[in-house]
Parts: sequence; structure tokens; C-alpha cells
Amino acid sequence: MNYEGLLTKMQTENGSPIQYYLVFDNDFLNVNQLLNKLVTINFLNYQCLNCGLQKKIYRQGFCYDCFFKIPQAADWIISPEKSKAHLGIEERDLAYEEKVQLQPHVVYLANSSSVKVGVTRRSQIPTRWIDQGAHEAIEIVEVPNRYLAGITEVALKSFVSDKTNWRAMLKNDIKDEDLVAWRNKLKQYIPVEAAEYYLENNTEINLEFPVLTYPEKPKSLNLEKNPFFEGTLKGIKGQYLLFEDNTVFNVRGNEGAVVRITVN
Ligand SMILES: [Zn+2]
Repeated sequence: MNYEGLLTKMQTENGSPIQYYLVFDNDFLNVNQLLNKLVTINFLNYQCLNCGLQKKIYRQGFCYDCFFKIPQAADWIISPEKSKAHLGIEERDLAYEEKVQLQPHVVYLANSSSVKVGVTRRSQIPTRWIDQGAHEAIEIVEVPNRYLAGITEVALKSFVSDKTNWRAMLKNDIKDEDLVAWRNKLKQYIPVEAAEYYLENNTEINLEFPVLTYPEKPKSLNLEKNPFFEGTLKGIKGQYLLFEDNTVFNVRGNEGAVVRITVN
């Protein structure tokens, strides 16, 4: 079977285990069904997720020009504390910024290799945790806008990481953590502006990824250097496809690539 199209991050559905989908214009693929099968990935070209032109991708699936122009790629996406829509201040497009920033956001703790703090829209839970490859997570604060979530994350970063170690996450080099205890310990560092939004009764959520074998020494597939890859799929974790020969393919990291996927 051949599937061809523009890569965007895998869609997911929580379950035991999590279900993953690749969604192309004319094709739809449940990736779980490829486990233990020989899969080829053939890189064809790039196509910017915004303008649709065949231009080299700069970041987040966008070409250089789009990345520095469109509201979906502004600084406040990566740095929520830079959000200004709650003050009525425009960055690139106030209507877009109000729509995205002025809605419930959650500050959470997620454990993918070690405990980290993060921010996401309420509507993105548990999608965000799945994308990060977290095997457990807990919500700690739910606030009415992105700015308040951002300043809470910044305050907590002094006491807990905000980075994922992707190699450790993929090797499943993980430790079970008591996230309720972490939350209780971090409560005192939540900024005054967000203190009233603390969630004290939530419990840990556990996530189950479809993985048969974890790679011992994950090495990342670079489509430009290796435009033709073939391997047996052994698992899916976060936004990565894990192959038998230790190759891992970051689907989200390759948004904007047009590929042909063949399943044997
Ligand atoms: Zn573009």
C-alpha cells in the first residue's frame, strides 16, 4: 500500500494503547496497524504548511517568510509569558491572538524522562502530553488566559525542568514519579496572580504508548540526508516512529515534508 502527502503531526486518540493517525489530503492511516511491518519512507519535496509553496522549511512546518509573518508562529507560541492579547495589544493579528490566548490554559507537570513543567490550552489535554511522550502527567493550575499560564511556568522553571530529553524518553529510560507530591511541593512558587487557580484535587494521568521494543541507541532519521528509508516499525511514542534498527523518525519535526509511505 502507498500513502502520499504532506506530513503534519500525527493525530492521536487516547486509549490502551494510544492510537496514532497520519492524515493526508487523500489518505488516512492508522499507524498502529503498521507495527511489525516493513515500512518505507520516501522524501519527495517540501511544501510550506501556510503558503503551500515548494520552499525549504524553516521551523514548525513553515517557510522562512511565513514563519516571520503569520500569527501562528509568533514568539508567544513558544514563550506563553509574552502573550499580550489580555491587554488588547497586537503582536501580529489581534483577532487571532485573542481567539487562541483568551481561553482556558493549563499549567501541568509531565514526566517523559524527568519531571517537566509545561503550558497548553485546556482543549489540548491529553494531546499535548501524548505528543511529548509523557507516560504520566498532572494538571496543577487552570487559568483563563495564556499569559497567566506563561508567568506560572516561568516561576516554576526555577524548580523543575521545562525540557524533554528525547533520547531518554525514546529509550524508555524513565522513572515513576509521584506527581501529586511534586505539585504540592511546587504550590508555594505559583505567582500571586495565578494562585487562586491552583488545582489541588487532581490525580496523575497515565498514558500507554504502542511500543513493542524500545531503541537502545536512538538515531534520528534526517530526510534530506536519507531521502529513502526502509525499516520495521516497532513502536510509536510522542511524535516519533521507532524502528527495529534504532532509527527514530520525528514526524512533528518533519512537518512540511511531502513523503510517500509504503507498507509491505
Ligand atoms: Zn510559506
